[in-house]
Amino acid sequence: MTTTDTLSIEEKRARLKQLIKEKAQAAKQPVQGSSEKITTEQVMLPEVADKVETFVEIQQHQQQFSLLEELNIHNPYFQVNETITRNTTQISGQALISYASYNYLGYSGDERVSMAAKEAIDAYGSSPSASRIATGEKPVHGQLETAIAELIGCEDATVFVSGHATNVTTIGHIMRSQDLILHDALSHNSIIEGCVLSGARRVPFPHNDYQALEEILKKERNNYDRVLIVVEGVYSMDGDIAPVEKFVQIKKRYQCLLFVDEAHSMGTIGKSGKGIVEHCQLNGDDVDLWMGTFSKSFASCGGYIAGKKALTDYLKYTTPGFLYSVGITPANAAAALASIELMQADASRVARLQDNAAYFLQLAQAAGLNTGASQDTPVIPIIIGSSKKSLLLAHKLFAKGVNVQPILYPAVSEDESRLRFFITSEHSREEITTTVRLISELLLQCA
Ligand code: PMP
Repeated sequence: MTTTDTLSIEEKRARLKQLIKEKAQAAKQPVQGSSEKITTEQVMLPEVADKVETFVEIQQHQQQFSLLEELNIHNPYFQVNETITRNTTQISGQALISYASYNYLGYSGDERVSMAAKEAIDAYGSSPSASRIATGEKPVHGQLETAIAELIGCEDATVFVSGHATNVTTIGHIMRSQDLILHDALSHNSIIEGCVLSGARRVPFPHNDYQALEEILKKERNNYDRVLIVVEGVYSMDGDIAPVEKFVQIKKRYQCLLFVDEAHSMGTIGKSGKGIVEHCQLNGDDVDLWMGTFSKSFASCGGYIAGKKALTDYLKYTTPGFLYSVGITPANAAAALASIELMQADASRVARLQDNAAYFLQLAQAAGLNTGASQDTPVIPIIIGSSKKSLLLAHKLFAKGVNVQPILYPAVSEDESRLRFFITSEHSREEITTTVRLISELLLQCA
């Protein structure tokens, strides 16, 4: 008998092809004694260790696209945006109103920000070409860190090359296997990955429920030396704000560390866009680790941790994702710095963003649309409650000139499937009015 190990790659490929054909044919035959019809999409190939296409997870991933085929609609993912994505975009030559970017303040594409990035490239090159601790340090790195620390009102900051990596590497590094991490149940993937990396015990508490958190601490606090509480400023699926002032009280009462991820709150809440510190009327030192990203309001890529200098220095010298990774590019650092400076010099875009978000929410609610828990933030979901309907609605909106991302099971539970609207300061009232009218009209056509 020939084992697959003795076959050449070509022979294995041919065998796999044959297997797929046989399986597909078998699937067309009704199962004996059963009225159930098996569709071709449900056929799973047996796993072959060196054939990635037979891996269960890869086959399952491919089957997810059968819904698109069934509905005969375009793939809403990885669409090529051919222009700057702000309040508008262009996809396949079609001009669209866009609600699918986090360019909250419209600084990505702003001439002044682009110019700062170009000047940084001219001065320092397109890459720092090394980890910052080695020879990658450029003046703009320190300037950006000082700007972030001043914005929040804490001693210093450390800037990382990616927002996601900031969470993974920082949480993974400062927490140890003997520690406890209590995080909001709706935490972003990067937070969970960091918790897992740390090896600490990880316990989620119900979303925004600081009382439930306190109950856990009453029972568990004394069993651990170091305890980290992790929350987000604004939640990116639901658009609600965490009551961080309550978490600060609890953190102080139980002597825990508090980590606040400001990916979606920095630049979007607080009268001058300073995020949670301003919105919740806190001091910079009320929170131990202020985390944020540059990919949203600050028109760039990268992340930061701000806090006490002892912490930020320690992170710079020891965190694997900082030490063993290249520094943020000069252009990215300069773009983020320019965006922060522009926001500080003139908060009118922050005000416009907040007005636009309130206007969208008010119109959507008046139209009877389900906006969930969203309040006072530019993240507004329209909860549809069915993946199929959400996909259809997004497709119909696209055809009418509105681009919005459907969020489907398993990213959220099926009855929470939704379209998620990211509002920007650059949207006009007219664009928002048209959009909400279209959502209401087209939803009726999605059976
Ligand atoms: N934290 C949160 C809450 C996020 O939503 C995201 C990404 N959207 C990140 C961290 C990661 O940031 P980045 O995309 O800038 O890597």
